[in-house]
Amino acid sequence: MKKLLIVGLGLIGGSIAKASHGYFDEIYALNKSQGTLRTAEQEQVIVRGFSSAQDCPKDIDLVCICTPISTIVPLAKQLFAAGCGRLFTDAGSTKAGIMEGMNTAGIPFIGGHPMAGREHSGYAFSSAGLLHGANWVLTPSDEKQDTQALQDWITYMGACPLVMNAAAHDRAAAAISHLPHILASALTEVAGEAEEKDAMVRKLAAGGFLDITRVASSDPTMWQNIFLNNPKYILEMLREAQNILAEWEKMIADGEAPALYDRFAKTKAIRDSYQKDFAEKAFREEV
Ligand code: NAD
Repeated sequence: MKKLLIVGLGLIGGSIAKASHGYFDEIYALNKSQGTLRTAEQEQVIVRGFSSAQDCPKDIDLVCICTPISTIVPLAKQLFAAGCGRLFTDAGSTKAGIMEGMNTAGIPFIGGHPMAGREHSGYAFSSAGLLHGANWVLTPSDEKQDTQALQDWITYMGACPLVMNAAAHDRAAAAISHLPHILASALTEVAGEAEEKDAMVRKLAAGGFLDITRVASSDPTMWQNIFLNNPKYILEMLREAQNILAEWEKMIADGEAPALYDRFAKTKAIRDSYQKDFAEKAFREEV
């Protein structure tokens, strides 16, 4: 693959363009904001930027769409109709709905989701290092579709390709990303309401509160898109969380000391094992 077109040169698209440097002969971008395109041209992150699908070069090997979820299928349709792109992929945080839209339109597409990010949006916050060590989910349209070319590119960027089914991705993402986002937002709301009654709440807020609520500072438009596109699995995880919270409520109300201890011990063991896996993976990548 020689020519890459990034659509949406924001946090993720900008990071992909920067991390792909040296892999493609030419990297182009299609983006809403002209200012970002000119900056990226000056920084030599891209060869040239465009603000209309019709103006993009036709001989693009790979189109990678990194815009808000609701715009991904419509933009792919525009580019496909304009004859631009041999293979399409994306960075959207949900997969099943996008796969369905692409398959219905007959677009040669392999879904993608780099499991990396931060609470700030926009090209100014992008960096090649953002993707380093991140799992990068690929969701082919069927088991016969060859994902090797995308896996090679992802590995070049320092990320770890992980091929899976779109529904399995959406369910797992609901558990480890989408539900935590609701909980971080809910905790922030609880603190906001408590502070209205007592200004000391803000004074006592320290690192732990900021750690657990960090993702509540993310872009509301991105999260609105995610929640509108994965309701089935988010509701499944939310109901599970509500059942667990009800159990906690009962243990506290009844003063069940052994049960409380066991619950904290159980969740500490689960959390510690996640932390250990994460640290071991980071170590393997460094060696
Ligand atoms: P962002 O806001 O930083 O960037 C989006 C870019 O797309 C902007 O440059 C914007 O100008 C451009 N854009 C929007 N609509 C467009 C259109 N119609 N035509 C051309 N350009 C358009 O957002 P982001 O955080 O980079 O997220 C992009 C995608 O990546 C989303 O689908 C999101 O779900 C996914 N994603 C985000 C994260 C994260 O943590 N931010 C992580 C993984 C995946």
